[in-house]
Amino acid sequence: MYDAANPKPGVSRLHNKIKAQGVQVHYGDTHAIRDVNIEIDDKAVTAFIGPSGCGKSTFLRCLNRMNDTIESCRVQGKIQIDGEDIYDKRVDPVQLRAKVGMVFQKPNPFPKSIYDNVAYGPRIHGLARTKAELDEIVEKSLRRGAIWDEVKDRLNAPGTGLSGGQQQRLCIARAVATQPEVLLMDEPCSALDPIATAQVEELIDELKQNFSVVIVTHSMQQAARVSQKTAFFHLGNLVEFGETSQIFTNPEDSRTESYITGRIG
Ligand code: ADP
Repeated sequence: MYDAANPKPGVSRLHNKIKAQGVQVHYGDTHAIRDVNIEIDDKAVTAFIGPSGCGKSTFLRCLNRMNDTIESCRVQGKIQIDGEDIYDKRVDPVQLRAKVGMVFQKPNPFPKSIYDNVAYGPRIHGLARTKAELDEIVEKSLRRGAIWDEVKDRLNAPGTGLSGGQQQRLCIARAVATQPEVLLMDEPCSALDPIATAQVEELIDELKQNFSVVIVTHSMQQAARVSQKTAFFHLGNLVEFGETSQIFTNPEDSRTESYITGRIG
């Protein structure tokens, strides 16, 4: 029997990075998330799947308090990252969002140079003391975004001049530049062509070595390709959560089965 206190030699134990308990979200009278409880691993990719409107993005946005910016939105329950309650009054949402970075559906580089897109976060958070240190952060982040080789000779060119796939990798580089621990991705490939999608998926696989990655996707194939754990949402409920391989081959709940076989959604 599996003994969590005594794992087999050589088997790494994943650490729980995020713990959500009893999370409820309302937009005015709309009850968008209903009593969600989940523990999300560090150094792994967790996918949120489910039919459109089931609450995937809403729940993702709870994890870095992006919902704070939506006036009608009310979040209840408890969310901890490394044991710290991120809704505690003492937590500064700006600092939190540096620690819990986000990448959106549509690549959204700032109307600035490639260099400044990446340097922006480290500058406002005071992560570099000298220009040389900032250069180093920018290079390291662009390498982590798997785009350094494509842009190293034109760092002063505008980020908006890159292709869609390059812009998305630039946005990933920008998100990792503030040294986050968690990366939230809301359908990061939905605006990309198949080749750019494959590049971003490959990058997500590398990012899991250093970050806890949570990705919302409408593509079950993508969830199966990139994630280790999958959470299936339906009508605001977290219906099922487990190993991706188990969710896709042997789901326990009939609603999950209906969704993955294409009967709902
Ligand atoms: P998904 O990401 O699974 O498509 P969402 O989280 O976007 O689902 O939406 C969940 C529910 O919350 C839906 O009923 C949607 O209409 C509602 N909703 C989402 N965003 C807002 C918002 N900004 N204002 C009001 N209702 C919203």
